[in-house]
Amino acid sequence: KASVMDGTQFEDELSSGNDDSSEAKTMLEKLQEDRKSLPIYRYREELLKAIQDHQVLVIVGETGSGKTTQIPQYLHEAGYTKAGKIACTQPRRVAAMSVAARVSQEMGVKLGHEVGYSIRFEDCTSEKTVLKYMTDGMLLREFLGEPDLASYSVVMVDEAHERTLSTDILFGLVKDIARFRKDLKLLISSATLDAEKFSDYFDSAPIFKIPGRRYPVEIHFTTAPEADYIDAAIVTVLQIHVTQPLGDILVFLTGQEEIETVDEILKHRIKGLGTKIAELIICPIYANLPTELQAKIFEPTPEGARKVVLATNIAETSLTIDGIKYVVDPGFCKIKSYNPRTGMESLLVNPISKASAEQRAGRSGRTGPGKCFRLYTKYNYDHDLEENSVPEIQRTNLANVVLTLKSLGIHDLVNFDFMDPPPSEALLKALEQLFALNALNSRGELTKTGRRMAEFPLDPMLSKMIVASDKYKCSDEIISIAAMLSVGNSIFYRPKDKQVHADNARLNFHTGNVGDHIALLNVYNSWKETNYSTQWCYENYIQVRSMKRARDIRDQLEGLLERVEIELTSNGNDLDTIKKAITSGFFHHSAKLQKNGSYRTVKNPQTVYIHPNSGLAQVLPRWVIYHELVLTTKEFMRQVTELKPEWLVEIAPHYYQLKDVDDSGAKKLPRGTGRAAL
Ligand code: ADP
Ligand code: MG
Repeated sequence: KASVMDGTQFEDELSSGNDDSSEAKTMLEKLQEDRKSLPIYRYREELLKAIQDHQVLVIVGETGSGKTTQIPQYLHEAGYTKAGKIACTQPRRVAAMSVAARVSQEMGVKLGHEVGYSIRFEDCTSEKTVLKYMTDGMLLREFLGEPDLASYSVVMVDEAHERTLSTDILFGLVKDIARFRKDLKLLISSATLDAEKFSDYFDSAPIFKIPGRRYPVEIHFTTAPEADYIDAAIVTVLQIHVTQPLGDILVFLTGQEEIETVDEILKHRIKGLGTKIAELIICPIYANLPTELQAKIFEPTPEGARKVVLATNIAETSLTIDGIKYVVDPGFCKIKSYNPRTGMESLLVNPISKASAEQRAGRSGRTGPGKCFRLYTKYNYDHDLEENSVPEIQRTNLANVVLTLKSLGIHDLVNFDFMDPPPSEALLKALEQLFALNALNSRGELTKTGRRMAEFPLDPMLSKMIVASDKYKCSDEIISIAAMLSVGNSIFYRPKDKQVHADNARLNFHTGNVGDHIALLNVYNSWKETNYSTQWCYENYIQVRSMKRARDIRDQLEGLLERVEIELTSNGNDLDTIKKAITSGFFHHSAKLQKNGSYRTVKNPQTVYIHPNSGLAQVLPRWVIYHELVLTTKEFMRQVTELKPEWLVEIAPHYYQLKDVDDSGAKKLPRGTGRAAL
């Protein structure tokens, strides 16, 4: 399996003793020394000069050279923060948090004071903050309150090569304000070499290259394709662990679930290896991982042990973990894909691009020669991988962005200065969707509903559901549901050895087949009744951390309700009105039961299934709406609620006609589908 070992021996750097008097030094002094050893340090003066001389500068440097942590500090030291804050955007919230934490340490200040971060639903900044790390999406939202970004002296769009949707939109907006704010400095930084494209877009802005140091990396391919890349990854990690010199391992997986699986199996198998083998410390890292655990990946590996980091794409360029000597690359990542014709969006596991494969391999050669084990064949690499990934703007639902741009007063979207324009079909679809949601009128102008929706940092369907709850007098319930949905799929805890107990506990919240949305509401309310008890969470297999996050989000949504002048109202137990409010946002996501137990989406028919974790998976109501689609073995609907078809026509008359919801034959249910009595 994964026969990629060649027995080459490496110089064992990790065990070489460190004989200077570093113990005597304070932590701060040590960090200052670390700063000086980064590749970027030698170019400090030159870089500051270039920034002084040019309004826009494209900066290119290998991952780990110090761009993200150092450049904002250099600018601060050079006095730029006297004129305003420095924003540094990151595509991922984990990166924003972790980098801000590091920089606050390096500056010897408390996180949230001079150095802070801002991510959706979490603002860790204060009056004092001058270096603000933030997700690109948050800076985009700041335009709503401050269209010229007057409080900033520098904007650094970092990780530009990731080309996230928000980064691409930011490009257009910052390019525009730079024209009339001559005092604003704009830095576009990237880890890859296609800087020309950025330079061209920003009117031939100069490119500043930070030469990186990189040790040779040996690349190994598998000789035959792997049927199961998870299994192959586990075997490869164990092979490295028992046959290769010490040095940490970085494994690229596609998401939290995969990481948890590999974590569990590795722990199990390592026990079987006996005590002669060096200790293997497993460190997962993904977006929803609690902050305390995130810090663990940066802790130095104890002498004689080996660390294996199980990471999502986040470790490709956003985070640099020192000491990685081996990379295991299964060659996949999870990406959002969108079909503008049907308006369907789904998360898919896809092969990575060659550019990504190179970045991943590079992670092993930072501190010494490295090895990268690709769990695919050379042929596969040469013939099947694309050169570069498709920018998100060309494969995603644009409704959110269109709503934001409209709120910024940008109406002519077709002529917006996109670096790579989205397919016009996708733009049209977004306009159509916003029109159906009543966020835009027939002339494409923002309506009052649309203006209210734009206040919420949520997808338009969720914000519409909240705004609609005003009409149904159930905003109290709806923001709890919205908060629970925003936490993601980490509410219920399902340990492998207690699955039956966990599933039974979960079903308690579904009594009466109320559907997944109401079940989430039940969880939230029950927890609230126990006065937010941790013990209660344990007893009910609920993740307390996710609940706390939901409470946080809910508090913020409550604040936003006030801002858009929607009263907090509760309608007690009238579930139908709650479901109608949900339908007001999610009517696009309706599906009807078929004879074989599958579902067909009502508009743009496609076959989908209720996710096995849904409370309605055994119930199979005739009509449902769903929160999202995920494609694993099948196209599954996640978070499903029963619906009365006439609501569709009542709530979205310009989207559904009577014929769409023609329910003739409703009485003749197929045998065995056991419709629940509601
Ligand atoms: P770049 O942005 O060029 O990829 P960074 O500024 O992110 O580089 O990283 C520079 C160095 O800072 C890394 O090599 C790493 O040693 C250190 N570093 C960055 N973030 C952290 C962190 N959260 N904890 C510990 N060290 C970190
Ligand atoms: Mg960086």
